[in-house]
Amino acid sequence: MTQHKYLLPESEMPTQWYNIVPDLPEPPPPALHPGTREPAGPDDFAPLFPMDLIMQEVTQDSYVDIPGEVMDIYKIWRPSPLFRAHRLEKLLDTPAKIFYKYEGVSPAGSHKPNTSVPQAYYNAKAGIKKLTTETGAGQWGSSLAFACAQFGLECEVWQVAASYKLKPYRKTMMEVWGAEVHPSPSDLTEFGRQLLAADPDHPGSLGIAISEAVAMAVESDEIRYALGSVLNHVLMHQTIIGEEALLQMQMAGETPDVLVGCTGGGSNFGGLSFPFLREKLKGNMDPTIRCVEPAACPSLTKGEYRYDFGDSAGMTPLMKMHTLGHDFIPDPIHAGGLRYHGMSPLVSHIYELGLVEAESIGQTECFNGALQFAKTEGIVPAPEPTHAIAAAIREANRCKETGEEKVILTALCGHGHLDLASYDQFLRGEVEDSTWDPQQMADAIATVPVV
Ligand SMILES: *Cc1c(COP(=O)(O)O)cnc(C)c1O
Repeated sequence: MTQHKYLLPESEMPTQWYNIVPDLPEPPPPALHPGTREPAGPDDFAPLFPMDLIMQEVTQDSYVDIPGEVMDIYKIWRPSPLFRAHRLEKLLDTPAKIFYKYEGVSPAGSHKPNTSVPQAYYNAKAGIKKLTTETGAGQWGSSLAFACAQFGLECEVWQVAASYKLKPYRKTMMEVWGAEVHPSPSDLTEFGRQLLAADPDHPGSLGIAISEAVAMAVESDEIRYALGSVLNHVLMHQTIIGEEALLQMQMAGETPDVLVGCTGGGSNFGGLSFPFLREKLKGNMDPTIRCVEPAACPSLTKGEYRYDFGDSAGMTPLMKMHTLGHDFIPDPIHAGGLRYHGMSPLVSHIYELGLVEAESIGQTECFNGALQFAKTEGIVPAPEPTHAIAAAIREANRCKETGEEKVILTALCGHGHLDLASYDQFLRGEVEDSTWDPQQMADAIATVPVV
C-alpha cells in the first residue's frame, strides 16, 4: 500500500520557532535608519511594531517559544499535511519522489496566518487598537484580517489596485473578518494622491501599498503596521512549516535532495527551508535549496545586492537586499504575491553566502505546471506556488532523463480558489509570458541612495 499523506497529531506540533541567524557563518548586515544611515536601533522601529516583535527581529536566540495563545489558534489548521505527489509523478513518468507541504488548509488559504496570528497577538498584548497593512493578491490582507478578528483588533488594508480589481472576493473575505479595504494607490495618503494625479488608473505595487499603510500607522500611537513577509521575525514565524516538514519527512523515511520554494519576499521559502538548512549546516543532510521567482520580477537572479528601501516612498529603514529598485513596477502578473521589488534581507544574505540557489520562471510555464498538478493531485494552487511546482516539474523531468530517484520537497503555500479569474484568463489563452524590462530596473536602481 502506498502512503499519500503524512499527518502529525496536534500533540507533536513543534512548540518553538527557529531563528537561523546564529547558525550562519556570518551575521546579516543590519538595517539602517533612513535619515542618519546608521544601524537602526529598536527605538527606530517602535512607531511601526510592538517591542516584542522588534526584539524577535534582532534576537540571537536560536529558538523562540510559541505563546500558548498562538498555539491555540494555530491548532485551527496546524499541523498541516505533507503529501507525496504520487499521481503527478506518474503523469510525469519520473523516478523522482515529489513531496509537498500544504499550507492552503489555513482559514485564509495560505501560509500567511502563521505570522499574522503572532503579530496580532503581540500587538494586542502591547495595547494596540488597530493594524494597517498592504496586500498584493489579498492573501496577506485576509490573513491579517482573520488574526485581528481573533484578538479584537481593528484592521485596515491597502490592496494593490490591479489585484483589487481582479480578485474582488479577497476584499469580501477581509470584510467578513471585519477589516476595512482600500485600493492602492488611494486618495487617503499624500503619496497615493500624488500617484493618482499622475495616473488615475495606476495599477499600484506592493511598495506603494506599504508606503500608504506605513503612513497611516505612524500617525497614531494606537495604530501599528504589520508586514506579511521580508522581515526576520516574519520568516522566523514561518519556520513552523519546515519544523513540521522535517518530522513528516522522517515519517516518510525520506531525506530531500532538492528543496524548491517560490519567493516573493521570502517567507514561505524561508519557513520551509531554514530548518532543513540548519540540518545541512550541521552535516545531517545535503539538499540543494533553490528559490524560484517570476521572470517578471527577478530580484535575486537579476537584481543588485545593496541597501534599498522596503517601500516605494522611501519611509522604511534601508535594508541590504537583492532589489530591482524601490521604484520598479513589475508587470501585473497573476502571482501578485511575488510582485515585490526586493527580497528578504535574510534570504538575500544566505543567497550571497552561496547556501541557496535561485532561478526564475515565466508565468505560462507556471500555469501549465499548475494544470498538470491540479488534474493529478486535485488541489488548484495559488498562482504564486505554481512557480515552485514548475520548478519541481523541471527537476522531475531532469530525473527522467538521468534516471535519478531524487527526493524533491516543496511548499504548496496556498490554494487558488480565489484566483480562478487568473485561471480563466489562462484557459482562454489570454495570459502572456511574463517579461521584465532591464531598462526600467536600471532607471529604478539609479534612484536608490548609495550607502
Ligand atoms: C504572500 C504569498 C507569497 C509570497 O510571499 P513569500 O513571503 O515569498 O512567501 C507566496 N505565496 C502565497 C500563497 C502567498 O500568499
